[in-house]
Amino acid sequence: MSELLQDVVALAHPAARRAAARAVARRLGGEDMVIFVRDPQVSALLPAPGFAQTLRGGREWRRFVDACVVRGECALEALMPPDGGAAEPAFGFACGEDVVAVVLGATGATAETAEFRCLLPLLASTYASERAAANAEAQARLARQAAAHAESLAAALDQVRGQLQRALRDAGSARQQLEVMNDQLQGQAIELEAQTEELLQQTDRLQQMNAALETARLVAEDANRSKSDFLATMSHELRTPLNAIGGYTQLIQLGIHGAVTDGQHAALLRIERSQRHLLRVINDILNFAKLEAGHLEYDLTPLSIAEVVADLQPMIEPQIQAKQQQYTVRVASPSLLVHADREKLQQVLLNLLSNAVKFTGEGGAISVEYEVPVTDAATVVVRVRDTGIGIPPDKRESIFEPFVQVDASHSRGGQGTGLGLAISRDLARGMGGDLRVESDGRAGSTFHLTLRRPSTP
Ligand code: ADP
Repeated sequence: MSELLQDVVALAHPAARRAAARAVARRLGGEDMVIFVRDPQVSALLPAPGFAQTLRGGREWRRFVDACVVRGECALEALMPPDGGAAEPAFGFACGEDVVAVVLGATGATAETAEFRCLLPLLASTYASERAAANAEAQARLARQAAAHAESLAAALDQVRGQLQRALRDAGSARQQLEVMNDQLQGQAIELEAQTEELLQQTDRLQQMNAALETARLVAEDANRSKSDFLATMSHELRTPLNAIGGYTQLIQLGIHGAVTDGQHAALLRIERSQRHLLRVINDILNFAKLEAGHLEYDLTPLSIAEVVADLQPMIEPQIQAKQQQYTVRVASPSLLVHADREKLQQVLLNLLSNAVKFTGEGGAISVEYEVPVTDAATVVVRVRDTGIGIPPDKRESIFEPFVQVDASHSRGGQGTGLGLAISRDLARGMGGDLRVESDGRAGSTFHLTLRRPSTP
């Protein structure tokens, strides 16, 4: 085998190709060599596998190898004359249209060029199969990559499918829960309906009871009015003969019907005291009956409170003197006016003062004072104080109820009806005021009578 042939055989081995290319190039008058083979996929001449794939001035090389195919062989200088001798010389020769050998550093053909040209198709087919193998390898790699990709895609799809299945399961159990809740709600709705029905029935019953109560109240009010009317009439009927008893007693005392002995005088005094007491009781009942029947009328006018209190003094004086008590009137403003009914105001104050005297021992002190309180400038407060037996805390409200007394011994053996304070409070309220009591149970009591002041125009 010739040496050229040995080198060409070496060119077929990928590992020895670079060195073999330089050896063949030297035989063909150059330094290195690149073999171009047509790639059917791109239909262009490309450097065969194992040769430098990128060459200086790539496009010029392509033009050069295409020229070699057209001319059979061609020197680079012939195609592109060197500009100042800087370009490296090259000589290319083709074998058919599909293979071109370019000898770098050679300027023309040598004796061995023709022999090498004949061997070129063999090399070309070797390189073509190498490229095909490389392409197949690349495609196989791509296919493997695609398969791996498809696998991971399938795994991802599996995961998504799993998630979907779980979501479906969750949705199923949520729907079941909703159905249970729906059932419960329906049950509750039915219960509520029943309760509403029950409530409506109860409301009906309550309305009926209310109507019955209203009728009963009207009947009771009617009965009460009848009772009060009866009491008022009866009291009036009783007062007339009682007044006659008083008058005749006084006439007998004056001796108009003949001389009166000491014994008869003492008996007449007792009759007169009893007659007065009975008259007071009947007056109280009459007043109370009138109040309850709503027959009382108020003549409210501006009154000087100083004047009203002063007018009372002669009425209360004998009782105060009898018990040697001290009586004081404290006047803050002598010209103070109240909006009240004179007669009824006197009645209230007289009742308070009588009680004060009655429930205070001998030598005790009674006082009346009045002022405009700082808390309400539209009112006047009249206070009746005493240093008497006081009122226990649990009785401070009930004594304003009709017929209530603290106790029998307290009220000194039935000297009263228990109506005075009930009447007084009603009268005070009827005049737009009020009546209440303060007492510490030891140092006497203080009754507070609130009255309205005349409104300034
Ligand atoms: P009466 O004096 O006719 O019993 P009142 O309604 O005026 O009726 O008084 C009711 C009761 O309140 C009296 O019985 C007495 O127990 C008590 N009370 C009234 N004023 C005083 C007072 N100043 N001090 C102590 N107790 C009083």
